[in-house]
Amino acid sequence: MQETVFSKIVRKEIPAKIVYEDDQSLAFHDLNAQAPVHVLVIPKRQIVSLEDANDDDSQLLGHLQIVAQRVARLLGIHTTGYRVVMNCGRDGGQSVNHIHYHVLGGRALDWPPG
Ligand code: 5GP
Repeated sequence: MQETVFSKIVRKEIPAKIVYEDDQSLAFHDLNAQAPVHVLVIPKRQIVSLEDANDDDSQLLGHLQIVAQRVARLLGIHTTGYRVVMNCGRDGGQSVNHIHYHVLGGRALDWPPG
């Protein structure tokens, strides 16, 4: 498994604007924000994509969703609403091979996505 920039962020080797951290996860602002709030929630342990996850990862993936909720509350978008998205693979638009949720909010978001 090839490491990505997210592993370097986890190890604090490159900077990121961290919103939340615990022993299993890290949440930080996206470098190229697509909404007033755009935060990435990642596991500290690398899983490449949802296609690479298995039953043993269920607790961790569920935890990431609860962290997404916590991020939304911390950043004050929980009352107006927000979107939690995971891109998977080429057609899903995944560009970083370290599984992550996008938490987007702070404006009305279009649906369906492009
Ligand atoms: P994906 O396209 O894989 O679903 O999402 C990857 C996201 O990571 C993109 O929104 C991109 O802007 C963000 N990203 C890529 N490199 C970095 C980085 O070094 N720092 C931060 N904070 N975000 C990054």
